[in-house]
Amino acid sequence: MNYQIKSITAQNGGPTTFNGTNTYILGNNNLIIIDPGPDDNQHLENILRNVENKNVEHIIVTHTHKDHSTLANKLAEITGAKKIGSTKYFIKNQEKNSIINFDTEFTPDIYLIDQMVIKTEDLILKALHTPGHTSDHFCFKEETKSKIFTGDHIMGWSSTLVSPPDGNMGDYIESLNRIIDQGNNEYFPGHGDKITDGKRYTEKLLQHRTNRKQRIHELITLGNKNAEELTSYIYKDIDTRLLKYATLTILAHLIDLEKENFIKSDGTNNTETKYRKI
Ligand SMILES: [Zn+2]
Repeated sequence: MNYQIKSITAQNGGPTTFNGTNTYILGNNNLIIIDPGPDDNQHLENILRNVENKNVEHIIVTHTHKDHSTLANKLAEITGAKKIGSTKYFIKNQEKNSIINFDTEFTPDIYLIDQMVIKTEDLILKALHTPGHTSDHFCFKEETKSKIFTGDHIMGWSSTLVSPPDGNMGDYIESLNRIIDQGNNEYFPGHGDKITDGKRYTEKLLQHRTNRKQRIHELITLGNKNAEELTSYIYKDIDTRLLKYATLTILAHLIDLEKENFIKSDGTNNTETKYRKI
């Protein structure tokens, strides 16, 4: 099966989005759109220009962070496509998940479940539940051409933000292993360029997380620390706009280490919570 893949980057570049969110249009005549992106008129126009009056069958959302999903409702209305996504695992506490806003307006016509198959006459995608960055995150594998659309699970420019309480480092690491188990594939991420050597790339990401976990454990062994203090030890020259995201990712590691009984806290699990060795 041969089919076209078009990538359109939204104009929402920034410290957490790199150049902007990538929207993918797949297929020859019956199209699938993955991650419609932010609710932005210029981006909507660019998408529709690339659709060229062809039939859009499905609009798929990898996860419900606003920069990926908010255009879905409008685009579905214009094209008549069915929206496919997941809010099933979504934590509705906006306050606790306020760093990156979730899209509470996204209403899928079809709810994703793991291993679900999405078919057009041009291609077949298989949904892989990959929680960690968010609990509702899915990647999509196209097997005949060994491609995976990786959303924010694996990105082409930076390691992924894992922000508690919805983000979960234990789940994230498990989901990296799940993608490694898919063999070698080419990745099309939600931000950044495509990744040709996917398996090796993910193995490196996994190694990075393992090293980070070890380093955090070592630092706690030397004295009680919270996520903010650890961030200043670990990230020496960080862009200050990224500081709060780095701190949350460190917190995700701390929660994971506590769950595995390496360290202990008073159970409050915020960025000021002190963790101690066991
Ligand atoms: Zn995201």
